[in-house]
Amino acid sequence: MGRYIGPVCKLCRREGEKLFLKGERCFTPKCSFDRRGYAPGQHGRGGQFQQGRSSDFARQLRAKQKARRVYGVLERQFRRYYSTALRRPGLTGFTLLQILESRLDNVVFRLGYAQSRAQARLLVTHGHFNVNGRRTDVPSMLLTPGDKITVREGSRGRSYFKEMADIAEKANVPGWLMRDLMTYSGTVQRMPERSEIDSNLNEQLIVEYYSR
Ligand code: SF4
Repeated sequence: MGRYIGPVCKLCRREGEKLFLKGERCFTPKCSFDRRGYAPGQHGRGGQFQQGRSSDFARQLRAKQKARRVYGVLERQFRRYYSTALRRPGLTGFTLLQILESRLDNVVFRLGYAQSRAQARLLVTHGHFNVNGRRTDVPSMLLTPGDKITVREGSRGRSYFKEMADIAEKANVPGWLMRDLMTYSGTVQRMPERSEIDSNLNEQLIVEYYSR
Protein backbone atom coordinates (compact mmCIF):
# COMPACT_ATOMS: atom_id res chain seq x y z
CA MET A 1 0.00 0.00 0.00
CA GLY A 2 1.31 3.42 -0.88
CA ARG A 3 2.30 6.18 1.45
CA TYR A 4 2.67 9.95 1.26
CA ILE A 5 6.21 10.91 0.25
CA GLY A 6 5.92 14.71 0.02
CA PRO A 7 7.06 17.33 2.56
CA VAL A 8 5.71 16.37 5.97
CA CYS A 9 5.78 19.67 7.88
CA LYS A 10 3.66 21.24 5.16
CA LEU A 11 0.82 18.97 6.29
CA CYS A 12 0.82 20.52 9.78
CA ARG A 13 0.85 23.99 8.29
CA ARG A 14 -2.02 23.08 5.96
CA GLU A 15 -4.11 21.76 8.88
CA GLY A 16 -3.27 24.81 10.97
CA GLU A 17 -1.93 22.81 13.93
CA LYS A 18 0.93 20.58 14.98
CA LEU A 19 0.23 16.97 14.02
CA PHE A 20 3.50 15.64 15.54
CA LEU A 21 4.43 13.61 12.47
CA LYS A 22 8.20 13.72 12.94
CA GLY A 23 8.75 12.46 16.46
CA GLU A 24 11.45 14.19 18.48
CA ARG A 25 11.91 17.09 16.05
CA CYS A 26 8.35 18.25 16.72
CA PHE A 27 9.34 19.18 20.27
CA THR A 28 12.38 21.24 19.26
CA PRO A 29 12.69 24.83 17.97
CA LYS A 30 13.28 23.30 14.54
CA CYS A 31 9.55 22.59 14.24
CA SER A 32 8.43 24.23 11.03
CA PHE A 33 4.97 25.03 12.39
CA ASP A 34 6.44 26.97 15.31
CA ARG A 35 8.56 28.98 12.92
CA ARG A 36 5.99 29.46 10.14
CA GLY A 37 2.55 28.76 11.54
CA TYR A 38 0.63 29.76 8.44
CA ALA A 39 -0.67 27.68 5.53
CA PRO A 40 1.87 26.77 2.83
CA GLY A 41 1.85 28.35 -0.61
CA GLN A 42 1.79 31.82 -2.08
CA HIS A 43 -1.47 32.79 -0.34
CA GLY A 44 -0.69 31.03 2.93
CA ARG A 45 -0.56 34.10 5.12
CA GLY A 46 -3.89 35.42 3.89
CA GLY A 47 -5.67 32.08 3.39
CA GLN A 48 -8.90 30.81 4.87
CA PHE A 49 -7.33 29.81 8.22
CA GLN A 50 -6.10 33.31 8.84
CA GLN A 51 -9.37 34.96 7.82
CA GLY A 52 -11.61 32.50 9.66
CA ARG A 53 -13.79 31.79 6.59
CA SER A 54 -14.81 28.21 6.01
CA SER A 55 -17.85 26.42 4.66
CA ASP A 56 -19.31 23.19 6.09
CA PHE A 57 -17.64 21.30 3.29
CA ALA A 58 -14.25 22.89 4.03
CA ARG A 59 -14.49 21.90 7.70
CA GLN A 60 -15.52 18.33 6.80
CA LEU A 61 -12.70 18.04 4.29
CA ARG A 62 -10.12 19.36 6.75
CA ALA A 63 -11.29 16.93 9.48
CA LYS A 64 -10.95 14.02 7.07
CA GLN A 65 -7.56 15.16 5.77
CA LYS A 66 -6.25 15.68 9.27
CA ALA A 67 -7.17 12.13 10.37
CA ARG A 68 -5.64 10.72 7.18
CA ARG A 69 -2.42 12.62 7.77
CA VAL A 70 -2.17 11.77 11.46
CA TYR A 71 -2.37 8.05 10.67
CA GLY A 72 -0.39 8.29 7.40
CA VAL A 73 -3.09 6.71 5.25
CA LEU A 74 -3.80 7.55 1.60
CA GLU A 75 -7.30 8.42 0.40
CA ARG A 76 -8.17 5.08 -1.17
CA GLN A 77 -7.33 3.08 1.92
CA PHE A 78 -8.97 5.63 4.20
CA ARG A 79 -12.19 5.36 2.21
CA ARG A 80 -11.95 1.57 2.47
CA TYR A 81 -11.67 1.84 6.25
CA TYR A 82 -14.74 4.06 6.21
CA SER A 83 -16.70 1.46 4.20
CA THR A 84 -15.65 -1.22 6.70
CA ALA A 85 -16.74 0.99 9.61
CA LEU A 86 -20.08 1.62 7.90
CA ARG A 87 -20.80 -2.11 7.74
CA ARG A 88 -19.99 -2.70 11.41
CA PRO A 89 -22.54 -2.16 14.18
CA GLY A 90 -22.11 0.94 16.37
CA LEU A 91 -21.12 4.52 15.67
CA THR A 92 -19.43 4.70 12.27
CA GLY A 93 -17.04 7.54 13.14
CA PHE A 94 -15.84 5.94 16.35
CA THR A 95 -15.47 2.55 14.64
CA LEU A 96 -13.39 4.23 11.93
CA LEU A 97 -11.04 5.64 14.57
CA GLN A 98 -10.80 2.21 16.24
CA ILE A 99 -9.83 0.65 12.92
CA LEU A 100 -7.13 3.29 12.40
CA GLU A 101 -5.83 2.77 15.94
CA SER A 102 -5.61 -0.99 15.44
CA ARG A 103 -3.15 -0.70 12.54
CA LEU A 104 0.13 -2.43 13.32
CA ASP A 105 2.23 0.72 12.73
CA ASN A 106 0.01 2.70 15.12
CA VAL A 107 0.24 -0.01 17.81
CA VAL A 108 4.06 -0.04 17.52
CA PHE A 109 4.00 3.75 17.94
CA ARG A 110 1.54 3.66 20.86
CA LEU A 111 3.68 1.06 22.62
CA GLY A 112 6.59 3.51 22.47
CA TYR A 113 8.74 1.36 20.18
CA ALA A 114 8.89 4.26 17.69
CA GLN A 115 8.76 8.04 18.07
CA SER A 116 6.31 8.61 15.24
CA ARG A 117 3.93 6.53 13.15
CA ALA A 118 6.18 7.08 10.13
CA GLN A 119 9.12 5.61 12.01
CA ALA A 120 6.95 2.72 13.22
CA ARG A 121 5.91 2.05 9.64
CA LEU A 122 9.55 1.89 8.56
CA LEU A 123 10.48 -0.49 11.38
CA VAL A 124 7.59 -2.77 10.44
CA THR A 125 8.38 -2.79 6.73
CA HIS A 126 11.98 -3.66 7.58
CA GLY A 127 10.67 -6.77 9.30
CA HIS A 128 11.67 -6.05 12.91
CA PHE A 129 8.40 -7.33 14.42
CA ASN A 130 6.56 -10.60 14.88
CA VAL A 131 2.80 -10.69 15.30
CA ASN A 132 1.67 -13.76 17.25
CA GLY A 133 5.06 -15.32 16.64
CA ARG A 134 5.11 -14.77 12.87
CA ARG A 135 7.25 -12.24 11.08
CA THR A 136 5.21 -9.52 9.44
CA ASP A 137 6.19 -6.50 7.35
CA VAL A 138 2.72 -5.10 6.67
CA PRO A 139 2.16 -1.80 8.56
CA SER A 140 -1.54 -1.70 7.67
CA MET A 141 -2.25 -5.08 9.32
CA LEU A 142 -5.23 -4.68 11.66
CA LEU A 143 -4.75 -6.13 15.13
CA THR A 144 -7.51 -7.47 17.36
CA PRO A 145 -7.70 -8.10 21.12
CA GLY A 146 -5.32 -10.87 22.13
CA ASP A 147 -2.76 -10.18 19.40
CA LYS A 148 0.80 -10.02 20.63
CA ILE A 149 3.61 -8.16 18.91
CA THR A 150 7.28 -8.78 19.66
CA VAL A 151 10.54 -7.27 18.47
CA ARG A 152 12.26 -10.11 16.61
CA GLU A 153 15.16 -11.79 18.39
CA GLY A 154 17.59 -10.87 15.64
CA SER A 155 16.65 -7.19 15.85
CA ARG A 156 17.00 -6.78 19.62
CA GLY A 157 20.79 -6.51 19.43
CA ARG A 158 20.62 -3.53 17.07
CA SER A 159 21.66 -0.22 18.55
CA TYR A 160 18.24 1.27 17.79
CA PHE A 161 16.39 -1.24 19.95
CA LYS A 162 19.03 -1.12 22.70
CA GLU A 163 18.63 2.67 23.00
CA MET A 164 14.91 2.53 22.35
CA ALA A 165 14.18 0.80 25.67
CA ASP A 166 15.14 3.96 27.60
CA ILE A 167 13.03 6.18 25.35
CA ALA A 168 10.07 3.77 25.38
CA GLU A 169 10.06 3.73 29.17
CA LYS A 170 9.07 7.40 29.17
CA ALA A 171 6.22 6.91 26.68
CA ASN A 172 2.67 6.69 28.04
CA VAL A 173 1.08 3.43 26.93
CA PRO A 174 -2.72 3.66 26.62
CA GLY A 175 -4.84 1.33 28.72
CA TRP A 176 -5.98 -0.85 25.82
CA LEU A 177 -2.39 -2.02 25.26
CA MET A 178 0.01 -3.79 27.59
CA ARG A 179 3.75 -3.48 27.12
CA ASP A 180 6.55 -5.61 28.51
CA LEU A 181 9.92 -3.98 27.90
CA MET A 182 11.79 -6.97 29.38
CA THR A 183 10.55 -9.21 26.57
CA TYR A 184 10.33 -6.43 23.94
CA SER A 185 6.66 -7.19 23.47
CA GLY A 186 3.18 -5.70 23.64
CA THR A 187 -0.36 -7.09 23.66
CA VAL A 188 -3.67 -5.67 22.48
CA GLN A 189 -5.96 -6.16 25.49
CA ARG A 190 -9.11 -4.63 24.04
CA MET A 191 -10.21 -2.06 21.47
CA PRO A 192 -9.59 1.59 22.53
CA GLU A 193 -12.24 3.77 24.15
CA ARG A 194 -12.94 7.16 22.55
CA SER A 195 -11.15 8.90 25.43
CA GLU A 196 -7.97 6.94 24.58
CA ILE A 197 -7.87 8.27 21.00
CA ASP A 198 -6.67 11.78 20.05
CA SER A 199 -9.39 14.19 21.10
CA ASN A 200 -8.56 16.68 18.36
CA LEU A 201 -9.92 14.34 15.67
CA ASN A 202 -13.53 15.03 14.73
CA GLU A 203 -15.04 11.76 13.51
CA GLN A 204 -18.50 13.30 13.13
CA LEU A 205 -17.23 15.69 10.43
CA ILE A 206 -15.49 12.77 8.68
CA VAL A 207 -18.79 10.85 8.56
CA GLU A 208 -20.52 13.97 7.22
CA TYR A 209 -17.84 14.31 4.54
CA TYR A 210 -18.39 10.76 3.25
CA SER A 211 -22.19 10.97 3.61
CA ARG A 212 -22.56 13.89 1.22
FE1 SF4 B 1 4.56 19.15 12.33
FE2 SF4 B 1 6.51 17.96 13.63
FE3 SF4 B 1 7.02 19.25 11.34
FE4 SF4 B 1 6.45 20.59 13.59
S1 SF4 B 1 8.25 19.30 13.19
S2 SF4 B 1 5.62 20.99 11.55
S3 SF4 B 1 4.89 19.24 14.52
S4 SF4 B 1 5.74 17.40 11.61
